[in-house]
Amino acid sequence: MNLDDLNNEIKKCQKCELYKTAMQAVPGEGSPKADIFFVGEGPGASEDKEGRPFCGAAGKFLDEMLAENGFKRSEVFIGNIVKHRPPGNRDPLPEEIEICTPWLDEQLELIKPKIIVTLGRHSMHHFLPDVGSISQVHGKAFKRKNRCFLTLYHPAAGLHQAKLKETIKEDFKNIKKLLKIIK
Ligand code: URA
Repeated sequence: MNLDDLNNEIKKCQKCELYKTAMQAVPGEGSPKADIFFVGEGPGASEDKEGRPFCGAAGKFLDEMLAENGFKRSEVFIGNIVKHRPPGNRDPLPEEIEICTPWLDEQLELIKPKIIVTLGRHSMHHFLPDVGSISQVHGKAFKRKNRCFLTLYHPAAGLHQAKLKETIKEDFKNIKKLLKIIK
């Protein structure tokens, strides 16, 4: 199976209840050969409408940081823990995460990125349940089972707080530093 086939399967998913209230699934988008795989939490209203990840306000900030660091959106992969929008943007439930994340595992298996960048605490806790709170470990790198992770705050967190925005921008620079070390 290639990435397009997989994403087409994800679009048809009805394994949990979220598809009933969402407009469509948002499998994620980007290069099948991406070195960097960003994992957010789940689609919001804009993503649900457009079927694309991070295309609203948080996505604009993510795009800005990608450009500032010399990355094209098309050369990375951007996905989420859950593929359908939780109603009213509530947090995904543990059972929804459990049912949905095999899709993410398959995407990671196909793409084999050099770095998985977790965006926000849900994404971080899915992969790194033991590392503590995001306020303590943001911007740090972790290695688990031969996979390399970088934990960032969710870009939405920086939208209304100037200080946090600067922190997120600084942490984002670690992606390039880490790529250089592990390449
Ligand atoms: N927030 C997320 O976590 N994911 C998106 O795709 C958009 C906003």
